Amino acid sequence: MTIADGAVYLKEGALSEVGGIIERNSAERLLFVVDESAYAACGADVVLQPILRSRIVARFSGFELNPKIADIERGVQQSRAFSPDLVIALGGGTAIDLGKIIAALSRQLDSPRDIVTGQSSIIGNGPPLIVIPTTAGTGSEATQFAVAYVDGEKYSVSHASMLPNYAVVDPRLTHSLPAGVTAATGLDAFCQAIESIWAVGATDESIVYATDAARHALKHLVPATKEPTPAARLGMSQAAHLAGKAINISKTTAPHALSYALTSRHNIPHGTAVAMTLSSMLAYNARVTADDCADPRGAEHVLQRISVIVKLLEATGVAEACQRIDRLVADLGCPISLAEAGIQEDGQLRQLVSSVNAQRLSNNPRKTNPQALLRLLRGNDKGETLQTHPILNRSEKLN
Ligand SMILES: [Zn+2]
Repeated sequence: MTIADGAVYLKEGALSEVGGIIERNSAERLLFVVDESAYAACGADVVLQPILRSRIVARFSGFELNPKIADIERGVQQSRAFSPDLVIALGGGTAIDLGKIIAALSRQLDSPRDIVTGQSSIIGNGPPLIVIPTTAGTGSEATQFAVAYVDGEKYSVSHASMLPNYAVVDPRLTHSLPAGVTAATGLDAFCQAIESIWAVGATDESIVYATDAARHALKHLVPATKEPTPAARLGMSQAAHLAGKAINISKTTAPHALSYALTSRHNIPHGTAVAMTLSSMLAYNARVTADDCADPRGAEHVLQRISVIVKLLEATGVAEACQRIDRLVADLGCPISLAEAGIQEDGQLRQLVSSVNAQRLSNNPRKTNPQALLRLLRGNDKGETLQTHPILNRSEKLN
């Protein structure tokens, strides 16, 4: 299997495709990486149970939220011993990322810890992988990377063979999600789309996916959270999937880099954590100049993409665009700043800044430094920036 074989089934009722996929792969031994509570809540059992009953199935479950090395080691050990013909992963971002890593490492000899931390690399392909997301957020079904935590530190495992062979995205599986989960996961999709547009790694292709994703999220996220309809759920599944396709090319930027410690140290859900710095980072990036531009295409190019974001938000300038983001986040009942989440002690903020790997920030279009990040996390940078910086006029012209 190669990337070209990656098939996507995204529609109401897509789950019914799983039986045919297993048949076509002549798979008898299935490893089922499953978030059991998501499985029980999403209603997939009605369709999957008859399929699983007729095969030899090993279940891997009982893992912690946000993939941890201990769970990866346990899953890889199980998979190497069981030797599945095919792996199925069902759940939110954690289950999907675990499924991707476990499948990819199933036929390797090196230790999961060495591979996750980059001491050794993935060679060849694992068994075919079907992923079935039960949230609309990470878009992990469309990317070749997975998050993993080792001793509290975040790693990104990336390999072409980790792009799932089959993504079965059935919005019906998200119908039972509570509002808080819909909001947090949906914000991840929205932030990934916005970050993808300004990323140094953005290409013409990724920008098409990202703008489409952002449009879907802006239209459907609040309804999907507050008064969910099948159309809003479908719209968010599309937003998440498109944002996944976008970041698979562009990767994410500073709000994601800053978010990992907010999640691991302060237990803030991933999407909520990312959204807490998105508008501040928009204001920051909109001040890019030739001197601090990280994108080789130049500051003017970055500003053009910032203006795409301003237009998507139907704002007249950067200041208004920032307000629209904050209003969206607040409408969803999520904090718009660290202070609002109760994280404002200087020591806490310094710890967050020092935990960020500088290399991970290199995909942000404007260079950063610890002082700038600290100002940004304190949240007292945005107002000044927007009132005094000439970019405001400039970006209005770009509109
Ligand atoms: Zn994310």
